[in-house]
Amino acid sequence: MSFKDLQLNKPILKALAETGYQSPTLVQERTIPLVLAKKDVIASAQTGTGKTAAFALPILQLLFDHQDESKKTKKIRALIVSPTRELAIQIAQNFKTYSAYTNLKTIVIFGGASIDPQIDLLRKGVDIVIATPGRLLDLHKQDQINLDYIEILVLDEADLMLDMGFIDDVSKIERLCPEEKQVLLFSATMPYKVEQLANSILKSPERIEV
Ligand code: AMP
Repeated sequence: MSFKDLQLNKPILKALAETGYQSPTLVQERTIPLVLAKKDVIASAQTGTGKTAAFALPILQLLFDHQDESKKTKKIRALIVSPTRELAIQIAQNFKTYSAYTNLKTIVIFGGASIDPQIDLLRKGVDIVIATPGRLLDLHKQDQINLDYIEILVLDEADLMLDMGFIDDVSKIERLCPEEKQVLLFSATMPYKVEQLANSILKSPERIEV
């Protein structure tokens, strides 16, 4: 199978060609069509399987294909919640690479760094935010981030997020987003607590195991 077989569009295929990836990985083959079909997805996939591109590529495509040019300032349409700063940065780099030939803008926000530059970036308008939970909630409390236009929410490394004690934060973040949205949950392992979280947030999810 090729990336083209997955119905990815030209700007994304062009960026992919520059990465040197030959073909989609298994998790990408399985996840991309479901995300493009706007399904909720719960996927157990380890880091290293290509799971970041499995959600980044179809999200970029959905956002790229359905843009409201009439909106003067960009609204945040996709939110990726990640347990650690390092992972958040990596995810944002992936989004930036794959969106090189689109007009979509990605930023990363995380704790342990000064908040003002992140506020400045948010004010300029972005389509995609990658965030760690605490800083995201801080920014929301300070009225610096608007989650009212989120179409797609990704919870990455959900098991790690729960292990790190972010369960309440993650639930709060989910409730700050519109009720009507697509949710994707990725986790290396699927303990009961992750299943419970998924049950409370995802709607008739498709399951993927790789
Ligand atoms: P991840 O599982 O998202 O952490 O990805 C692991 C590594 O695989 C990253 O360095 C990606 O750049 C790389 N990668 C992702 N998709 C592919 C692919 N289809 N072919 C080759 N490498 C890939």
